Amino acid sequence: MSAADLQSRSAFELAELVRGGEVSAREVAEAFVSRTHEVEGSVRALVRWNAESALEQADRLDADRARGRELGPLAGVPVAIKDNLCLTGAEVTCGSQILRGYESPYDATAVARLLAADCVILGQANMDEFAMGSSCENSSYHPTCNPWDLERVPGGSSGGSAAAVAGGEVPLALGTDTGGSIRQPAALCGVVGLKPSYGRVSRWGLIAFASSLDQIGPLSIDVRDASLALGVLAGVDEKDSTSSPEPVADYVGQLEDGIDGLRVGVLSEIDEGDLDAGVLSNWRESLAHLESCGATLEAISIPSLKSAIAVYYVVANSEASANLARFDGMRYGHRSAEAESLRQLYDMSRSEGFGDEVKRRILLGTFALSSGYYEAYYGRALGVAARMKLEFEQAFGQVDLIVTPTSPTAAFRIGERVADPLAMYLSDVFTTPASLVGLPGLAVPSGFDASGLPLSLQILGRPFAENQVLRAGRAFERAAAVEPKRPEIGGRPVSTT
Ligand code: GLN
Repeated sequence: MSAADLQSRSAFELAELVRGGEVSAREVAEAFVSRTHEVEGSVRALVRWNAESALEQADRLDADRARGRELGPLAGVPVAIKDNLCLTGAEVTCGSQILRGYESPYDATAVARLLAADCVILGQANMDEFAMGSSCENSSYHPTCNPWDLERVPGGSSGGSAAAVAGGEVPLALGTDTGGSIRQPAALCGVVGLKPSYGRVSRWGLIAFASSLDQIGPLSIDVRDASLALGVLAGVDEKDSTSSPEPVADYVGQLEDGIDGLRVGVLSEIDEGDLDAGVLSNWRESLAHLESCGATLEAISIPSLKSAIAVYYVVANSEASANLARFDGMRYGHRSAEAESLRQLYDMSRSEGFGDEVKRRILLGTFALSSGYYEAYYGRALGVAARMKLEFEQAFGQVDLIVTPTSPTAAFRIGERVADPLAMYLSDVFTTPASLVGLPGLAVPSGFDASGLPLSLQILGRPFAENQVLRAGRAFERAAAVEPKRPEIGGRPVSTT
């Protein structure tokens, strides 16, 4: 099988080929290593990658198979891991200066589960510093470019993971999502991204941004691969007390059951005037595709949706200000060389180590939690989030799924929104509600705009109803039959079969 052929296969197909002995894990690793050599110089999706280590991991799998061990569900599948997930022996920095030189002594549970499923780790993906951002421009390393147009952002904060998949460097990547960081970059790069329900995947070993919202999930080329990956990742973990004991469904087994007869809610709060023209027409087509699959559309209302961005940025920043207090120059990473007192050591290490956006968030969060303002900001934001949860519960009494565009715009130009944090925050208008309420959310490619940039549909479901969300994504992906096109750099087509 040629390298080009292997590069165009899904993770599911690759694992089957390797498990069945039709190709070796080494051949698969070589194909993706060579692709990464070819495109990484222009895409810059990764902050660290190691061809030799990937080939060694693959050789070990081949040797195991030769000795008669049956390989796991991700046999030989090359993956990229976002740089906020702990990986034994590797530098893990959350895209930040402050963690430079930190070497993780352990694996995040999500990483350990991927490895136990026999994947091959190719490298670590770029991200906005501490996962704060929607464009990957807040990385302390370098911006990542969108494989569909190298002058545009890949989205964020899991922009490196999304670009690595879209550019064909890996068929599967891990991202994290606090307010949209898996779904929005998946949308901007034309790949599938799944944020599981809060608690579905253990957060052990994920460097925390906002602990009540953070979730780990896959970015992939199609919905079947997202389902396969979720099956590997999901499940209770004694190391994370917020991980759920809810049984893990057979996501792949139920995937082709279709959505005939399901009720799909369309939010009346979506203001079509806020959508780019290309997004709007694609959104209307997407609704028609869902109907063609036998779903019925129903208008529903979540009145507190209008406050989602404001609530999210108060809650997320408040939690971030507490979580990031541990980066003080004493325990991990960067320590200022200039300090002459303990107080100065804290001040200077943090001033030198954190980038501007992280500092802005810490300041805003600290303010929102300070005495005299706590109730007015943090308390009130939690109150609105609780109301939003009730509104979603009511809506889910009426419908099975809720859909929105994933992002109000296609990929924007690098630099276009850096000077305007508020414009950047508005990228998250459709993704933050599911985070605040803990719902599963799937971004599925839905076509291209007039300039050839990818667009995406977001499908939300009831808590822990990932199987229904994935089924709907699969049905939609088939119905929309997104034209397999290659990004400029010659990336993989989006698989729709
Ligand atoms: N873009 C959002 C933010 O900047 C979401 C980030 C995320 O989900 N990690 O906070």
